[in-house]
Amino acid sequence: MNQNLDRLLAGLAERGERVVELQSALTACKALGPDNGGRGELDKVRRITDWLTACGVRDLRRMDAPDNRVPDGLRPNLIARLSGTTSRTLWLFGHTDVVPPGDSAAWASDPWQVRREGDWLYGRGVEDNQQAIVSMLLLAEELRRQNLTPALGLGLVFMADEESGSDYGLAHVLEQAPELFRPDDLYIVPDAGSPRGDLIEVAEKSQLWLKVRTTGAQCHASTPHKGRNAFLAGADMVLACHQGLYETFPQEDPLFKPSRSTFVPSKHDANVPSVNILPGSDVFYVDCRLLPEVSQEAVLAKAREIAARVAQRYGVEISVDVEHAQAASAAPADSPVVLALEQAVERVYGVQPRPVGIGGATVAALLRRKGLPAAVWACIQNTCHQPDERASVSAACKDAQVFAHILMQRDAHA
Ligand SMILES: [Zn+2]
Repeated sequence: MNQNLDRLLAGLAERGERVVELQSALTACKALGPDNGGRGELDKVRRITDWLTACGVRDLRRMDAPDNRVPDGLRPNLIARLSGTTSRTLWLFGHTDVVPPGDSAAWASDPWQVRREGDWLYGRGVEDNQQAIVSMLLLAEELRRQNLTPALGLGLVFMADEESGSDYGLAHVLEQAPELFRPDDLYIVPDAGSPRGDLIEVAEKSQLWLKVRTTGAQCHASTPHKGRNAFLAGADMVLACHQGLYETFPQEDPLFKPSRSTFVPSKHDANVPSVNILPGSDVFYVDCRLLPEVSQEAVLAKAREIAARVAQRYGVEISVDVEHAQAASAAPADSPVVLALEQAVERVYGVQPRPVGIGGATVAALLRRKGLPAAVWACIQNTCHQPDERASVSAACKDAQVFAHILMQRDAHA
């Protein structure tokens, strides 16, 4: 068995040029979802299917979600399986959709064409989430090339729609085929991590997005005494809310990074079209990420209490509503997948990884909510969604080696 693992690891170490090839082809697919003004993920999934077929992976299953906003009318989800010698499966998840490049002037080169500088590849999607897709493909290709049957079965899930909520992606797959995923299988989502590979994400804060609407009375800006300025009251509310929520919920949990709940005034809706109008309406949003012990109801109640105070001061009305909410999720830090990852990461990267909680959200939350203990891990630079997003060629090979370790160990994590 160890001999096979050594052969597999050696093979994966040699696959750098293949990483460049795969990253270049995947990036050129421009897989934007309809929420981001794109045509969807189908081209990309066809490519992935061709590669898997070419290397001899036969067990391929599509689980598409209908979506008439894209030309093909569907959002593709692809599941590939390679059998192992035991009945357990190591599941790896990669999302095929990407976010828009944003201001293209901020990029040093065309975001849709991979640029290579030494070990670095630049392009939209190379890190988020193509590094995962590439290491999943490398692993499948190398197993087939060497004709190896690993201890665990390998399940590869290529999902659509992760950047816009996963309704057409993993949520759809879990709804269509819950029987695929078993509680004693291992689940890894390589969609967050650190540059040294030393963080394993096992918990996510809850999300609460608040919409704060201030209603006053519009008038000409030259006669402010005739109106009630909703923008001004709203601005006071931004500051009062920011300070009040941080003061009321100061709890800390060292598992999480950042260790406190966060309350961030973020989006602001446009108000009046002209400078000489005193605005009668103002809408802004607060992105709250709460430690598991902080209740969403308590935060909402506190925000409303603050709103009532500010409203009274300015003679306006302020409503606070929930725009979006998602529960916190966690996998036990001593679950088999976390222990297996710790061991494998230490062997491949030479670091001792530790479990952490984050404020961001990954599809691991969807798995955990179904009772499936999922860990989130990758060795990445955290340049996702930025201009000049980058990923390392060697990290794609090494991440695949980490997964290979786990896949080939029959007993280490039963
Ligand atoms: Zn991602």
